[in-house]
Amino acid sequence: MDQSQDEMEVRGKRVTVMGLGRHGGGVAVARYLAERGAIVTVTDRAAAAALRESFEALSGVPLADVFVGGHRERDFRSAEIVVVNPAVRPDHPLVLLAADSGAVLTSEIVLFADACPGKIVGVTGSNGKSTTAAMTAAILQADSRRTWLGGNIGGSLLGELPAITTDDWVVLELSSFQLARWPDEARFPEVAVVTNCTPNHLDWHESLADYVRAKQRLLHGQGRGSLAVLNDTCPQVATWHMHVRGRQLDLVGEAELPTLAVPGRHNRQNARLAATAALGIGCGRDAIERGLREYRGLPHRLELVAEVAGLRFYNDSQATTPESAIAALRAFEAPVWLLAGGYDKGCELAPLAQEIARRARGAALYGAVRSKLHALIVEERPQGEFTSRETLAEGFAWCVERAQPGEAIVLSPACASFDQFRDYADRAACFQRLVRAFAECHTATATR
Ligand code: ADP
Repeated sequence: MDQSQDEMEVRGKRVTVMGLGRHGGGVAVARYLAERGAIVTVTDRAAAAALRESFEALSGVPLADVFVGGHRERDFRSAEIVVVNPAVRPDHPLVLLAADSGAVLTSEIVLFADACPGKIVGVTGSNGKSTTAAMTAAILQADSRRTWLGGNIGGSLLGELPAITTDDWVVLELSSFQLARWPDEARFPEVAVVTNCTPNHLDWHESLADYVRAKQRLLHGQGRGSLAVLNDTCPQVATWHMHVRGRQLDLVGEAELPTLAVPGRHNRQNARLAATAALGIGCGRDAIERGLREYRGLPHRLELVAEVAGLRFYNDSQATTPESAIAALRAFEAPVWLLAGGYDKGCELAPLAQEIARRARGAALYGAVRSKLHALIVEERPQGEFTSRETLAEGFAWCVERAQPGEAIVLSPACASFDQFRDYADRAACFQRLVRAFAECHTATATR
């Protein structure tokens, strides 16, 4: 059966791509539409210099117009289709203007889903989306199915469409931003997985209810023959069974899982969800076991960077919510020196502060949130080793001065990075440089 819905006809249509970005989605969508005969205008509020690599990737693509360093009203008033970057807020005046002027609003991921011939597994949640999506893909591959992994996890699968067949499986990580703009009439994933739901991105969504609704759209849009996997250990998601339109799968028991290479209880939970989805799809139990056993984890999620002088350094730069940093603290048996900080996105910080006060050997807080988080932790444990430093580098130096062999130094920021870094990868690169410099310094001292 051909899974793809009717693709939107774009030939000869005026399309505005709002937000070219630097992560590949905007480039892929502009190319995809231009190759199908659309009259494509690309616009981004960032200046040309910041978008240089994206424009290089677009060389040779027949664009009708480009406008950067801001947006022009006319590109929205006269557009027939506007492809909105997930980062653009839903109440952006130009998005509203385009809708009022009769434009169809869509996104890179919806264009992909509508055109994709393969069957789709959609994974959403506040934490663990990428990991659960990657684990699901690993199992499907172990079960000898041709599998593609994409969505919010990075890159775009639009360019791969010609290679994707009706027998293939596509696992998509889906963010609340992507789901909030998923039109009712678009094609929805045949299999939905929800990892958990805790407050996040409240600087983008107008309310917590709006954020929850966005996540629930994944279930609301599914057809009768669909499958849904809900994490019943999350108090919020456990109540979502009434939103399931197809069949809700019983979760595979934790005892049925193999030993995992990735640490922490949270990863066993992610594995349970992936195993359940795979079983529902029809994968064999041995493939499930093999896929999970051989899963090695994604970069920037509790990734062991190095061991120097008996200290283990972990990069968990993808931990952009309080819950993910809490999961990191709970994942270690060794005493942890935590590096946390950045921009807090309006999340509740008290539970994180309690967990740091209770579990961390020490913590250095940096970035925009540092004073607030530091004060909350010290309130919990006034005598602990906690400090507030302006930068990650200063916090790192403070931790390595104090840490003893056998202990771990973990960057698990709990916050967004953009107050001091370009993105989480830039933040991780800074941490890795600091670890390398420390290692070199240590080797030099040791050999002297
Ligand atoms: P997401 O795609 O939802 O951001 P990731 O799988 O990329 O999730 O993991 C991001 C961060 O969250 C990492 O620090 C990871 O260790 C942590 N994490 C992963 N799964 C969970 C979970 N189930 N609960 C809490 N934190 C988690």
